[in-house]
Amino acid sequence: MASSTHPSAPCAACKFLRRKCIQGCVFSPYFPPEDPIKFTNVHKIFGASNVSKLLSEFAPHQREDVVNSLAYEAEARLKDPIYGCVDKYYVGDAGYQNTRGYLAIYGGDKRYYWG
Ligand SMILES: [Zn+2]
Repeated sequence: MASSTHPSAPCAACKFLRRKCIQGCVFSPYFPPEDPIKFTNVHKIFGASNVSKLLSEFAPHQREDVVNSLAYEAEARLKDPIYGCVDKYYVGDAGYQNTRGYLAIYGGDKRYYWG
């Protein structure tokens, strides 16, 4: 029971949401139980249902990038709730491409997050 690599261990998302982690869980490849903070941050900022919806709109091979972008932005938002990682969009690092993909979907909802 102590092993975190047990195949039936719920992913971080299901554990947090207190639900059964079923096979094919959309969160499980991206939110391993060893890294609960990643999901907690993303859930706080975007909400689990939005993340789930967003992931279903991307092909499986793109989802990891989407999740990483969300995790990156969520962490930045939590550190700086007003500007988040806006200033980092233009840094031109490897995250930029991913963030653009995310913005194409969620850009129109910015004001929602900012209240
Ligand atoms: Zn799960």
